[in-house]
Amino acid sequence: MEKITNRFSNFLELIFPTLCVTCGNRLVIQERFLCIDCWLDLPVSNFHLHSGNKVEQLFWGRVKIEFATAYFSFNKGSNYQHLIHFIKYKGMKELGFETGRRFGISLLESKDFCSVDYIVPVPLHPKKEKEGIQPK
Ligand SMILES: [Zn+2]
Repeated sequence: MEKITNRFSNFLELIFPTLCVTCGNRLVIQERFLCIDCWLDLPVSNFHLHSGNKVEQLFWGRVKIEFATAYFSFNKGSNYQHLIHFIKYKGMKELGFETGRRFGISLLESKDFCSVDYIVPVPLHPKKEKEGIQPK
């Protein structure tokens, strides 16, 4: 039965290939969501390695925080905008988990972040949330 399922799955993959959400290239079997080239080219910020980084500065004088960072730089119109949109507006939770897992691994390099108890994401603006998220 498993062979039949795998064959059917392979057949479906031929007709409906799984594509990288960032560049649109076809994914190979071990890849999920993004191709290896896009994961490697992700414009990581490394802000977690620098106190007083640009993200922390956004909170200065507004909210008392210990540290702030961003996994990667968001450039409107870049291919990586798709990654954010798939997570935020298309409810692609597994892509969010995978991105978060990779971010978590990078945070272990930081003396500030390696011992934190919680990481709190910046939430969507309520107006954006009403506009974009559709239940799956
Ligand atoms: Zn790609």
